[in-house]
Amino acid sequence: MDRFETYVQDNQERFLGELQEFCRKPSIIAQKIGIDETAQWVSDRLQKIGFEAQVISVEGGAPVVYGEIGTGDKTLMIYNHYDVQPPEPLDLWDSGPFDAEIRAGRIWARGVSDNKGPWMARVHAIETYQNVVGELPFRIKWVVEGEEEIGSPNLGRFVEQNRALLAGADACLWEGGRRDGAGRPVISLGMKGICYLSLSVNGANSDLHSMNAPIVSNPAWRLVWALASLKDENENITVDGLMERVVEPTQDEWTLLRDIPFDEEQIKQDYGITTFARGATGEEVVKQLLFDPTCTICGFLTGYTGPGPKTVLPHQAETKVDFRLVPDLNPELVLQLVREHLDRRGFTDVEVELLAQLWPYRSPVDHPWVQTCIEVARAIFGAEPVVYPSSAGGGPMHQLCGAFDIPGISGGGAGNPNSNLHAPNENIFIEDYMRAIRYTGHLIRALNKL
Ligand SMILES: [Zn+2]
Repeated sequence: MDRFETYVQDNQERFLGELQEFCRKPSIIAQKIGIDETAQWVSDRLQKIGFEAQVISVEGGAPVVYGEIGTGDKTLMIYNHYDVQPPEPLDLWDSGPFDAEIRAGRIWARGVSDNKGPWMARVHAIETYQNVVGELPFRIKWVVEGEEEIGSPNLGRFVEQNRALLAGADACLWEGGRRDGAGRPVISLGMKGICYLSLSVNGANSDLHSMNAPIVSNPAWRLVWALASLKDENENITVDGLMERVVEPTQDEWTLLRDIPFDEEQIKQDYGITTFARGATGEEVVKQLLFDPTCTICGFLTGYTGPGPKTVLPHQAETKVDFRLVPDLNPELVLQLVREHLDRRGFTDVEVELLAQLWPYRSPVDHPWVQTCIEVARAIFGAEPVVYPSSAGGGPMHQLCGAFDIPGISGGGAGNPNSNLHAPNENIFIEDYMRAIRYTGHLIRALNKL
């Protein structure tokens, strides 16, 4: 057994104790609880392993912890976040969300999988490397933000204001990572973006008796007609100029896509559906999930929806519509395309407001740092990695990786298929935590050989 392994095993108890200490600090960004203290704790911990670390305040937002260490030609950026989701509903937890209890081989705590465990495992891996090998063989620039769980509203501005500090990295090790039910490590190389819109129409100055419908136009109908022009009955987005910008998967991406396990029957059963949209089957379902943009009516608010009849002509109608974006779309462009599309069809009365936005990002599969992360995962997990060219969901990868045009690689985390992210009883297995430390340790050695 090598010295790295011995050190990790000898220190397991202390490592777990430190992870518990971190998890016992509530850092609930949505409720603004414990943010500054936790940021300071993270910075102090990085300093303990030799990082030049600082808490950088961001006007109007949570501070970002930034740390740097090492010298050499190569630079690895690392991204994590120290904030967590609210723990509610509390009565569904089997032990306190901030007790970090160890039970049945797992640690149970809010944030232990998303994202405190993965962060701490990297700290412990670096500490181990320093103790058994020596100084780090390359430079590390570590960004630990505190607003990931509310959509990273200020990360872009932080990057903008600290460009000089952050520049020069070759790749970015992203947060996250888990193994699937078959023990295969899951790696993700990109994220979808989002353009979240409110579409609304105003009619008369108040709700009216519906006998007025022959002479007063109904904002609910106006909105239905406008929405119907955005997407057709075959699930195709019909916003002028939108689909033309969508980049098709590359050959490499198709190869990865075909290897992603996707149990169609099970998922249909789980969701209570009989077919997938567009009647897709096989690899086409996965392709749609990861590579297609979406246009989703998230909610529709108008008129009367209470019990029994009420004959009313609403004076207002509002919908929330989210577009999930893939390269080469972006939120500003989609907002503009939707506005122009509606105007062209006479829907100038539909007000469009941008409520939330995120740019999509996808890393090149054949990048050597990406390939090294995949190889190390294969070796450490002893199973073929499942590599997602992009996740179906969103995240702030573009804000950091896009700003410097470097690949973002998520993986090697400590999660399991039932880690209960954002839910009661969030947990990781101790065994998975120790493996996550090993993964990062081996990755440092492998990246050094590039
Ligand atoms: Zn999360």
